[in-house]
Amino acid sequence: MAMDVGEERPLSDATAGLSSEVLAMVFAHLPTKSRVLAALTCRRWLHLLAPSFSTVSDLRIVLEESSCTPSFQVDQIGEKLQLCVSVCQCAEHLASQVSLLRALMIVVGPSLEGIVVDDCLVGPNAFVADASVHTILLHCPPTLVRFELHNVDVSQLHPWTLAQLASMDNLRELVVEQCAQRMADTHPPPLLTDIFLGKLMSASSHQLSQVRITDCPLVSDRLLNRLARHCPNLWLVDVSGCKQVTAIGVVSFCETIEERQADTLVFQANGAGVVGDHLARHLQSPYSRMSQESRWFVVSIDVEIGYPKKAARLHKQACPSKAIIVFA
Ligand SMILES: [Zn+2]
Repeated sequence: MAMDVGEERPLSDATAGLSSEVLAMVFAHLPTKSRVLAALTCRRWLHLLAPSFSTVSDLRIVLEESSCTPSFQVDQIGEKLQLCVSVCQCAEHLASQVSLLRALMIVVGPSLEGIVVDDCLVGPNAFVADASVHTILLHCPPTLVRFELHNVDVSQLHPWTLAQLASMDNLRELVVEQCAQRMADTHPPPLLTDIFLGKLMSASSHQLSQVRITDCPLVSDRLLNRLARHCPNLWLVDVSGCKQVTAIGVVSFCETIEERQADTLVFQANGAGVVGDHLARHLQSPYSRMSQESRWFVVSIDVEIGYPKKAARLHKQACPSKAIIVFA
């Protein structure tokens, strides 16, 4: 479905002569999903049908070069709805797209649990404009549960824009997957660093259950050390492709294994700098502090994830009910 709620439409359509009360009676006969789609027709209908957005729990923003005219899709996920909005970020249309996002967020924002910003996976990472993310986060409820950035170039984002996440204390999932950013000696400096990402998660540290930050060249063991010490509810950590992450990052989670709420922590580090031999040496060497406290077992296993994949299962003799599964 394609339209433009960013513009005020002249009331020249067939419903222009109908009162709001009559329109509301007609809309009442539509299923919720159809009411949400109908609301995206024009500002008048968006205003009339605003209460229908209380069932929309997830918003997916897809960045597409070809979406100079925005398009919408509504999908049923269990009892909730996911609204998918495809927009461009080109200079010519950015102002109207941001206006559209603002109008949408005012009605959909309060009920949102999850937000995904994704590019359409055609060509290199699409840049995401600061104004778009700022508008989205500004209207997010403080109870937001999931925030995900996939395959976008964050070079244009200001730190204070993403820092709005730092005031949210209910995040369970944070995903920054394969995002590009300006690097090296540029000004302003790169955004996605250990310190900045750590600050984003600080208010939610006791709630976080899944953190996926992949292919991020500046993420290192320092961030993992912070997560291991402050996020007891984590059961999934994915730092695949983060070259600076080493066995020391995994050891941080081993050191705090008794504090884990979940019995198993899954640690994904494919293409990162985690070397199995180094891990075993840190845990099992008679000279290491870890092995002096308790005996550690590092067992090679095959995990079925649609296909068999090699992993290492780490557990401690003094805490047999907890384990860490490492994919590296
Ligand atoms: Zn455009």
